[in-house]
Amino acid sequence: MAELIFSRVSKRFEGTTALNDIDARIGSGEFVALLGPSGCGKTTLLRLAAGFEAPTGGEIRLGQRVLASATAFVPPEDRNIGIVFQSYALWPHMTVAGNVAFPLEVRGISGAERARRVAEALELTGLSAYGARFPAQLSGGQRQRVALARCLVAEPGAVLLDEPLANLDLALRASMQEAFAAFHRRTGATMLYVTHDQTEALALADRVAVMREGRIRQFDAPETLYARPRDCFVAGFVGDGAVIGCRAAGPLTRAGLVVEALGQRIEARGDDPAPTHLCLRPEDVVPDPDGPLTARVSAVRYIGGRFRLVLETEAETIVTVSPQRAALGELLRLRIRHPWAFRNPDA
Ligand code: ADP
Ligand code: MG
Repeated sequence: MAELIFSRVSKRFEGTTALNDIDARIGSGEFVALLGPSGCGKTTLLRLAAGFEAPTGGEIRLGQRVLASATAFVPPEDRNIGIVFQSYALWPHMTVAGNVAFPLEVRGISGAERARRVAEALELTGLSAYGARFPAQLSGGQRQRVALARCLVAEPGAVLLDEPLANLDLALRASMQEAFAAFHRRTGATMLYVTHDQTEALALADRVAVMREGRIRQFDAPETLYARPRDCFVAGFVGDGAVIGCRAAGPLTRAGLVVEALGQRIEARGDDPAPTHLCLRPEDVVPDPDGPLTARVSAVRYIGGRFRLVLETEAETIVTVSPQRAALGELLRLRIRHPWAFRNPDA
């Protein structure tokens, strides 16, 4: 496995800039999720890495090898990159083993070597018992695993997955997420996994690149994205909570800083001396009978074991999660506990 590197990569179609100056390095053996709303350029980035399109600017490398640049273009079949799509694209007239063997057949690998590699790919994807079946005899999740096995059998330097679970129902999606994570642990594959589902990205990936309108807005570990978002878009797109305006009301220290928001002085975490916004995660908003802030409950939703409460303060709408149900219209006393303060670059 090798690292996959995008340097200042751009892609323009007539009238649209699909990708704008993308810099990203996916480490060897790293599992990276590319997360963003529909139309932000995720599929385009994968297609450039796979070689189905050429970038209009920048360079893509796999390890030391330049795959695409102003002067070079390696065709898809010579890139040593595997790709798995949302639609499985299996050959219906071939068995599972036949489908998985196909990429080897194309390369002229036959006999014992082919049999060994097919058996290994089936084993890795939990399909050893299904080699003789036809795609029509499999569930959606099994078909997606056949597509993954077919991609792996070629022993690619990196694996690209474009919303591979989008067609599956919720329960199957959860078990396939487990399967992908286990698969990644066993193979140490370099993986770039596209999804528009933030839960999936946070659950699966070592690091997540959050995209918007052709740019990467933040590329960090899931915990960092959640706890320290760099802008209002990331704060709102990843994780629950509210983003509200604030201004500094004290100097930046090691512990953070004091900000003014919600008509209060609030101790916040931060690394910018002049923050413009606060990210209030549900756990930063603590119901407390002695708390300094009052808010009215405007929505209550049961989320299994707990209740998600939407709260209206004088000026802002915020969110908390509580073990206790609250009544609509009820007044709650609150305390704000160390929210993240940041300067929104778009402000
Ligand atoms: P995502 O996968 O994040 O939903 P895409 O990469 O498919 O987004 O698309 C990014 C943008 O590029 C969109 O505005 C889309 O309409 C545009 N786009 C993608 N492919 C083409 C193409 N072949 N021709 C013109 N525009 C395209
Ligand atoms: Mg897409």
